[in-house]
Amino acid sequence: MAIFLRGKTRCAICDRLIEDNDERFSTSTFLEKTHPLWRYADDTMHASCYMGWDRRAEFASEYCDSERRWFAGHPDCSLLMETANILVVYGSRSVAVMILLKLIAVLVDVGLDDLDDWLSMPADGQRFVQAELDRVRADLDLLGGKDHILDLLRSLG
Ligand SMILES: [Zn+2]
Repeated sequence: MAIFLRGKTRCAICDRLIEDNDERFSTSTFLEKTHPLWRYADDTMHASCYMGWDRRAEFASEYCDSERRWFAGHPDCSLLMETANILVVYGSRSVAVMILLKLIAVLVDVGLDDLDDWLSMPADGQRFVQAELDRVRADLDLLGGKDHILDLLRSLG
């Protein structure tokens, strides 16, 4: 995971210092060194710069592909549902639902019992994530919500 050093870390997009109270975004390394966006993976940026970045869609799409491959190759993970906005995976080892917010490349773990609370009152305080949660709620509702997730889990046996 990208390292954030107070008063030292510069935004990968605008090159200004990232202050303590700035919302920030980072991912782990997920791109090959030959990829044109490689230097942005495993680096830190202002969330506002990231959200306005003209390469965000491409970056997030690559991240999503990388995560999907990882989940597919992991025996403890089961892909439950996917829409244009979200990818929902169940991790049997963690007894958690992992929701990938595809458009912003943010992966969140939610305990199965906490899903309703999480959807109505997100623990993560970053505003750019909260804004995306409206999409998650709409998609989860469309797909049958938590009950549907539980049905899918039962069908896994
Ligand atoms: Zn910036």
